[in-house]
Amino acid sequence: MHPTLNPSADAAETERARRRAAFEAHKLEKRLCREVGRAIVDYSMIGEGDRVMVCLSGGKDSYGLLDILLKLQARAPVRFELIAVNLDQKQPGFPADVLPNYLRGLGVRFHIETQDTYSIVKDKIPEGKTMCSLCSRLRRGILYRVASELGATRIALGHHRDDILATLLLNMFFGGKLKAMPPKLVSDDGRHVVIRPLAYVAERDLIRWAEHRQFPIIPCTLCGSQENLQRAQAVALLREWEKKFPGRLDNMLHALQNVVPSHLLDARLHDFAHLEATGRPDPEGDRAFDADLWPEAPPAGVQVVHFG
Ligand code: SF4
Repeated sequence: MHPTLNPSADAAETERARRRAAFEAHKLEKRLCREVGRAIVDYSMIGEGDRVMVCLSGGKDSYGLLDILLKLQARAPVRFELIAVNLDQKQPGFPADVLPNYLRGLGVRFHIETQDTYSIVKDKIPEGKTMCSLCSRLRRGILYRVASELGATRIALGHHRDDILATLLLNMFFGGKLKAMPPKLVSDDGRHVVIRPLAYVAERDLIRWAEHRQFPIIPCTLCGSQENLQRAQAVALLREWEKKFPGRLDNMLHALQNVVPSHLLDARLHDFAHLEATGRPDPEGDRAFDADLWPEAPPAGVQVVHFG
């Protein structure tokens, strides 16, 4: 019988789909909380009594960040405060009531800072050039000031695993540096601690979470600026790799936590000049004439990616 001719079968199928979706959403929530919690612990991001200013842009990542931090706050063994902060940059068409309404609905303490950086950026950057770098610089200065005014001890940003890896590639390709994005840092004015609790979270999980939670997303590109082309290419490359070789991005992130300075070429990190034969065998030492081998069974947390 055609499904539409059997209402009870249709209802059963709808119910099964609903349960499947609820199960998947629950799994995703657990994974997000676990990954964010792990990053917070691994890098001592938040401690007892911290006041965390969560920077909310209206994009999926910062909504996800606030959402997961609220869940962790409710169950964390340490007490900390959360204050959501949005900077209204006066981009044309920015729906100024969306975030306040959303945050009021959550019952979260928040602050909206209004500063017309849009006009400054438009004025300074020639037509057709990317405005994002000046825009973010201005935004950063304002957010640091707001953090001081609010007495925030931590500034939380919504950068995730894939942002960190894209930055790594960009620094290698264009900057000549082996450098990504730190999960925790002191701001350049020396006055703030900036944290990235989503450092372990895959972007695809944030996309799915935003869909599930139906966040009222506000696009950043209201100003008409295009995403930096090189960053877009790095992101596309990462997505393609992950599609062809699932697990590769987690391996890359793991590599950033497992650096071997003696096997890189930076003489500031390893004292090559004073290397001498010790006369003592070292089973862990380099086998200079052997090809690199990867173990059949990878260490815990590492997924071996097979080529070809
Ligand atoms: S897209 Fe527009 S608002 Fe977003 S960072 Fe770039 S210049 Fe700023």
